[in-house]
This record gives sequence, structure tokens and C-alpha cells, in this order.
Amino acid sequence: KEFRNNVRPNWCPGCGDFSVQAAIQRALANLGVEPEQVAVVSGIGCSGRISGYINTYGFHGVHGRALPLAQGLKLANRDLTVIAAGGDGDGFGIGLGHFIHAVRRNLDITYVTMDNQIYGLTKGQTSPTSGHGFKTKTTPTGNIEHAVRPIELALGAGIGFAAQGFSSDINQLTRLVELAIQHKGFSLVNVFSPCVTFNKINTYDWFKQHIVNLENDPTYDPTDRSRAMQKVLETGGLCTGLIYREERPSYEELIPGFQAEPVARHNLQMDPDVFRELVAEFA
Ligand code: SF4
Repeated sequence: KEFRNNVRPNWCPGCGDFSVQAAIQRALANLGVEPEQVAVVSGIGCSGRISGYINTYGFHGVHGRALPLAQGLKLANRDLTVIAAGGDGDGFGIGLGHFIHAVRRNLDITYVTMDNQIYGLTKGQTSPTSGHGFKTKTTPTGNIEHAVRPIELALGAGIGFAAQGFSSDINQLTRLVELAIQHKGFSLVNVFSPCVTFNKINTYDWFKQHIVNLENDPTYDPTDRSRAMQKVLETGGLCTGLIYREERPSYEELIPGFQAEPVARHNLQMDPDVFRELVAEFA
């Protein structure tokens, strides 16, 4: 399957988002789905451009709103594989409320976040995942706030699938995206995706020195929520791999009387008189 298109990404050379794009494309190809069975929805930010760089249906939405769009899409056509994607500012700043509710709602969609701990598109301001003390042009004496840790937040909100990857390890990232897509319910893959232009602290080398790869620990059990939270706290959120997975029914499966036929296939033809009455009512 061909998930590449001929659009050249407008990312800086070395940006971590290239690997995320490639990992999603490889995961989809490995899963054997057709391009027309997939929709990639994104928000705003450098990473938000990703929906235009993958050969599937794509929707580049508004800031922080990738998840509401993705959930609506999935409800209307549950036959689609729906992937939402975006950055840390988009998803854990303006979009944070949507994130928490998407976690607890548990629709069968995958959220891939490109976490570079900075606002890249607007040229380098502190983001919700920037570390305490982090210096940028908006925090010249150091960030006085503490960082959102996406996996900790997701586990606390009751997520059924949480994984974390690193742009430098594309094989692991591909596996994690595959598992996330296969999971029935809301799945999060948070990716440490360095911004090589504006974040000179959280670089590829910095992550290599600090990340703990859970795949190297044969005793780690990703079905134990308490253990997962403990590991995330122990590592300061810097662990990669499949962190937590739990099988439970998705939102769609629990809706009483949810029709077998997706709404997108319903015949929505309406009597012209009824249509005119509706328009008059809303005018
Ligand atoms: Fe990537 Fe940073 Fe360049 Fe944006 S500014 S494309 S996040 S390296």
C-alpha cells in the first residue's frame, strides 16, 4: 500500500516529525489497510501539517480541536481508521479539555502526539510540556510552571492504551502505532519528537541519555495500571514502549441501539418541503 504522497513536508531538516510521519505510514502499510479506509486529522502547529503528508483522507483542523473532529468522524463512519495527530501545545494546551474527555469517552481512535516541549511554529515559546526552569524568549529567567506529563495525565484519566515513543527509534515507534491502531478504544502514542531549531535542551542526545526503554525490562507488565503509573513517576515521564493496555468495550460498542450501518452510508435524502421548513426555522 502506498501511504506516501508527493507533498514535500515543510519541516526543518532533522525535525522529529519526519519519523512520526514515516512510522504512521509504515504502521498502516503493515496493517494492510487501504488508504481510502483511513483518515488523519490534525490541529495547528508544525506537526499539524502531517495530515497533508500522508496518502489518506486528511483534515487539517483548528488549534486544539483535532480530537473533537476525529471523534465526530469516527461516529459518522466507524468503518474508517481514524488517527488524530498534533503537537504538545495543540493537544495539551488549548486542546487539553478535549484530551481528557476523549480518554474517558474511549472512542476507537488513535491519538499520536509529537511532543517537542516547545512551540515551534511560533518560533520558540514555552509549551505545556516544557520543563520547570526551561528558558525561552517568553521565560528568559526560566519557566516557573511545571510540565504536563501526557502519559501520567492519561493514566490518571483512565486511559485504556498508553504508549510513548522516540523519533530516533522508528522501528519501535512503528510497532507502537500499529498496536495503538489495533487497540479497540482510545489509544495514545506520545512521541518525543525533537524540535532541532528552537529547543536546544531536549535534543536527540538529551533524550538518548534520559529515556528508559521499557522493552529492555522483561519483567515490566503493561497490564498493571498501578505499575505503569509508578514507572512513569520513577522515570519523570521519560519511559518509552507500551506503558499500559487494557481490553474493554469502546464507546461505540456501548451506545444502546447504535446502528450497524454507519451514518455516512445512510440515505439522508429529505422531503424538499421538510427541508425548506427546517431552513426557514433556522434562518
Ligand atoms: Fe520541527 Fe521545530 Fe522546525 Fe517546527 S520549528 S519544523 S518543530 S524543527
